[in-house]
Amino acid sequence: MAVKPIPVPDEISAPFFDGARDGRLMLQHCSACDGWSFPVRERCPHCFAAKLQWRAASGKGTLYTFAIMHQVMNPGFAGAVPYNVSQIDLAEGVRMISNVVGVANSDLRIGMKLEACFDDIGENIRVPKFRPAAGENQ
Ligand SMILES: [Zn+2]
Repeated sequence: MAVKPIPVPDEISAPFFDGARDGRLMLQHCSACDGWSFPVRERCPHCFAAKLQWRAASGKGTLYTFAIMHQVMNPGFAGAVPYNVSQIDLAEGVRMISNVVGVANSDLRIGMKLEACFDDIGENIRVPKFRPAAGENQ
């Protein structure tokens, strides 16, 4: 049976995956301009300073948009369709692509409040997913 691809952390992204393993959503923060950034990079996208440091984010966000995948583009996802691919605006001001879990695709609503959770996908890797925040109407 085909399996989903599993990310392989590198030197730059390792803190992201180390945090996820511990249940923390890690983002890079610039000490020069106080800006947050994602995806992982070597320089701040706001001021280009090489002063990015890893910090735990709040894990809170809102659903910006989503698409429902019905086609199997990779055999590892054959058992997962239909699934959502969602863009989540994090409270820190960055946008992350993930999946919203714990809610039916038909109940996804743009603007719904979400919180990070972590999915163990094997090989000691956990990846952030998002679920409706406590109190969010579904
Ligand atoms: Zn900066």
